Parts: sequence; C-alpha cells; structure tokens
Amino acid sequence: AKTWVLRQHFEGFPKDSDFELRVEQLPEPKDGEVLLEAVFLSVDPYMRPYSRVRMKEGDVMIGTQVAKVIQSNNSSYPVGSYVVARSGWRTHTVCDGAELVRLLSDWPKDCPMSLALGSIGMPGLTALYGLEEVCQIKPGETLLVNAAAGAVGSVVGQIAKIKGCKVVGSAGSDAKVAYLKELGFDHVFNYKTTASLEDALKTAAPDGYDCYFENVGGPFSSVAIPQMKAFGRIAVCGGISLYNDTAPQNGPYVHLHMIFKQLKMEGFLVGRWEHKNEESLRRLMAWVKEGKLKYKEHVTTGFENMPASFMGMLQGENTGKAIVKV
Ligand code: NDP
Repeated sequence: AKTWVLRQHFEGFPKDSDFELRVEQLPEPKDGEVLLEAVFLSVDPYMRPYSRVRMKEGDVMIGTQVAKVIQSNNSSYPVGSYVVARSGWRTHTVCDGAELVRLLSDWPKDCPMSLALGSIGMPGLTALYGLEEVCQIKPGETLLVNAAAGAVGSVVGQIAKIKGCKVVGSAGSDAKVAYLKELGFDHVFNYKTTASLEDALKTAAPDGYDCYFENVGGPFSSVAIPQMKAFGRIAVCGGISLYNDTAPQNGPYVHLHMIFKQLKMEGFLVGRWEHKNEESLRRLMAWVKEGKLKYKEHVTTGFENMPASFMGMLQGENTGKAIVKV
C-alpha cells in the first residue's frame, strides 16, 4: 500500500515537505476482514484543523475514500462491492467491516461514485443538516452562504432554492460566480474583487438575511452578522479563512448584534445526525436524479498528487467537490 503521512505538523499554510509518501506491506486479511483498494479519495478543509488534534507526526493523513473490496473474508462486503471508508490517505487498507458504509443501492448509473464523497456524501449531509436542523430554514426566507461554489456551499444554495428561498452567495472567482448563477442562485458576488463587502451584502438583500450558512469566519462574519434580520439563524459550519492562521485571532466583535437582534448562532458537526444519514443520503440522491441538485467536481488524477490537491483546495482552486482519482 502507498500512504501519505503527516511528516511534520503544518505551520501556517501546508507545504510539500509536511507530507511524506510511504510504501507499507499489508497483512493478509483475517476472518471478518477485507482488503480495500481506493478508487476516489476526498480532500477536505477539516483535515487542516484536525491535523493538530487528531494526528501525530508520522500518522497517515486522515480522510475518507470510495474503495472497492478486492479480497474478502466478510460476507457483508463481497469482492467487487464499493464502500465509503475512513481509511485515510492510503491506496490499500485491511480492515474489518465496523466502520464501512456501503454505497447506496440503486446508485444512479450516470453519476460518478465520487459523489459519495460530495453531494451524496458528507458535504451534502452537512448542507442539509445545517439548513434544516440548525437554520430551520423556511420558504420565502433569504439565505446567505459563503464559499458558495464549494462542496458544501453549492449544495446549501441549491437546497435552499428547492425550498423556495432567496439565495445570496459569495465566491472567490468570476468563473465561480458564473457557475453559481447557472445553479440558480439569486445574487452572487466575488468577495475578492468587490469594492465593499458590506455594500455587496446590502445590495443583494436590502431587508437583510434570515439565515446565514457560515463556512468562512473571520472578517467576513464581522461584516455579515450585522446584516442579519431580527430572529435570524446562523449555522456555523466552518471557518476556513482561519484554518492556516499561526496565531489565534480574536473573534469578530458581534455581540451587540447577537443580543439586540436576538440571533441564534449555533456551531455544529455533521455527525450529530448520523442516525438519519441513510434517509438523508436518499433524499440527496433523489434530488440529483431529478436534476434539482447539480454538481461539479474538481478531479485530480494520481494518488501521488494528494498533497497538491489538498493545498489547491485550501487556496480555492476547486469549483465543487475536490476529489483525487487514483
Ligand atoms: P470547499 O469545497 O468549499 O473548498 C474550500 C473553499 O474555501 C475554497 O474553494 C475557497 O473558495 C474557500 N476559501 C479558502 N480560503 C478562504 C478564505 N480565506 N476566505 C474565504 N474563502 C476561502 O470545502 P467544503 O465545502 O468541503 O467545506 C466548506 C466549509 O465547511 C469549510 O469551512 C469546512 O471546514 C466546513 N465543513 C464543516 C463540516 C461540519 O461538520 N461542521 C463538515 C464539512 C465541511 P473561494 O474561491 O470561494 O475562496
């Protein structure tokens, strides 16, 4: 098996020398175990902050993959079946079935299996739960989402449109802005080139926002939160603008807006609603099949390009889900 290891903890933005490609000999699968071969691997923002808390130097990089069972001593996972596995950045894995999730049956024939790492996977679930469970979004409401052209953001905006909401999104390039317009977002702007973020947010929704799906954090939030309507809801999903900071920053100063507008702001992790995952994935899959949930993927080929794909995603190279195809 080939693996990518965290050679040394990231300091600031990750660099090539923080990763090391290793080759390891795997044991034969024992009773109840299977041998997996990675087909698609996911690179996700969480890998950056989690590297500090979940990994030691020398550990295999954490991550999820779509893998094919190529040897099996476990009747639940026959040879030739496909699973979603939390195996990390590795081409081959020997494991028991405990942590494996089978790909949904009746997977749409014209959809790549990599969607199980994107719109019909963890990022799709994150979008759905953040909107329904945290924001409790209602038809007719106005939603703001940032990193809107990414894996989570693009699903957030489309589900909100399905629910009859007005959707405002921000993204980091004109090509992303054009893509989001194609997806049916009502207002989109490039946060890197807009003269004033405050003006852009006000122009897009002069009456303010009912819901804010927060992926970015930092200064963006400081400007966005004052644009909330009374009794607005903020789903704090991520803060990617802060993940590579070396010194902890002071949070945005938003308390007065929180108090006087009686806002609800709640952080969440997608795993909170794990018990609903199968049903939720089926809902996402149905929208994909009906053409209501469109997707784009940013596919990099070659396991050796995992670090480049990860760093590219952190810099915004991806429109839609960033995926590595072995
Ligand atoms: P994306 O596909 O959106 O990729 C990351 C994107 O973030 C980039 O394409 C880039 O787009 C944007 N970005 C990078 N740096 C900055 C910056 N400094 N300011 C603004 N935008 C930036 O990733 P995901 O959809 O997988 O994740 C989106 C967010 O959701 C992340 O914060 C992630 O941590 C969070 N998340 C949280 C989960 C949870 O359970 N709470 C689960 C999954 C994801 P651009 O060109 O627009 O700048």
